[in-house]
Amino acid sequence: MSQRDTPAELIARSNRLGADPRNTNYAGGNTSAKGEVTDPVTSQPTELLWVKGSGGDLGTLTESGLAVLRLDRLRALVDVYPGVEREDEMVAAFDYCLHGRGGAAPSIDTAMHGLVDAPHIDHLHPDSGIALATAADGEALTKECFGDRVAWVDWRRPGFQLGLDIAEVKRRNPQAIGVVLGGHGITAWGDTSEECEAHSLEIIRTAAEFIETHGRAEPFGAVVAGFEALPEAERRAKAAALAPVVRGLASTDAPQLGHFTDSDVVLEFLSREKLRPLAELGTSCPDHFLRTKVRPLVVDLPAGASVEETVVRLKELHAAYREEYAGYYQRHATPESPAMRGADPAIVLVPGVGMFSFGKDKQTARVAGEFYVNAINVMRGAEAVSTYAPIDESEKFRIEYWSLEEAKLQRMPKPKPLAGRVALVTGAGS
Ligand SMILES: [Zn+2]
Repeated sequence: MSQRDTPAELIARSNRLGADPRNTNYAGGNTSAKGEVTDPVTSQPTELLWVKGSGGDLGTLTESGLAVLRLDRLRALVDVYPGVEREDEMVAAFDYCLHGRGGAAPSIDTAMHGLVDAPHIDHLHPDSGIALATAADGEALTKECFGDRVAWVDWRRPGFQLGLDIAEVKRRNPQAIGVVLGGHGITAWGDTSEECEAHSLEIIRTAAEFIETHGRAEPFGAVVAGFEALPEAERRAKAAALAPVVRGLASTDAPQLGHFTDSDVVLEFLSREKLRPLAELGTSCPDHFLRTKVRPLVVDLPAGASVEETVVRLKELHAAYREEYAGYYQRHATPESPAMRGADPAIVLVPGVGMFSFGKDKQTARVAGEFYVNAINVMRGAEAVSTYAPIDESEKFRIEYWSLEEAKLQRMPKPKPLAGRVALVTGAGS
């Protein structure tokens, strides 16, 4: 295949992988390919890296979403890398490695794609892979599941050092087709684009089958009497009655739009013994925190509680949530941390009824709900084969209030004055 086809092949692979929600969460993960082109300045052959840039989703990735970097320069950064304490500085250095105009802005994961010595690399966030990655004995389970075909990399926040860690693990395990990244996801590689994709799917499917065949029957514990899903009509009526109240509470700091989900996955989780302890442990994949916050608000009343009782309890729980969130911020914030972004929950779980999710617009609200469904799947998988053990709260905070993430938020267009507000127009039909 000629080198001109390398980006097209990468886009096609990314779109296929991103189209199946079992492979990665919305806008999660990134892919890359390396290849040789003729440098128009020197007429000499030069090696390039095409890698999904910052933002965007694999399922709809196009060529304009790829960052294009010179591999010789990217690899030379290893010699000036000042160490893990200052690894964030390396992101600015990526701009000095761009080829031509460079395409999309390079993401924090660019180091992993450049430093790991393989022509094609996929980094993904599949529920099955994260389930192993967040199991208390994830390293041993990865060995049991994959033998030496997939290696383990201890949790580390995404960045330059994680790229170096994965590159080293690959060097020490030349037979491996990829790695499980503790607390986070998976990375797979291949000599060709087809091989890389096949390796990604092999890891995702093997992990899912392992959980299926080795997992215990009721990972979330027994159904708690009274917390079963209400019949659909009753459930929807209660959701409709609660929706404006929940949205009002979730909009205390800033106007939010809401989304409601009462899928079987959600209702089943809400009916089980382990709902509250697991919800309290919070999500783990680095992508999740900015969308769902670390923890949801969980209503602790049975499904049959009246709307009035539930509203009273929601207000109490919301006040407690805000206090707890401010405590979490104060426990971990340093003088360099961005200011607290608001203490309202992004996810509200009501047993018997369903899940409300919130965001600054409709799409963000829906995606927050999708991410929490990912988190439920991850917790179920981890609890099936082991004990769910997400990364430490301090690490979660470091990601939620990461200065690089903050910079990304600041670059996003400011919401329009009426965004997130709902207007009721009456008498307009005359
Ligand atoms: Zn990731």
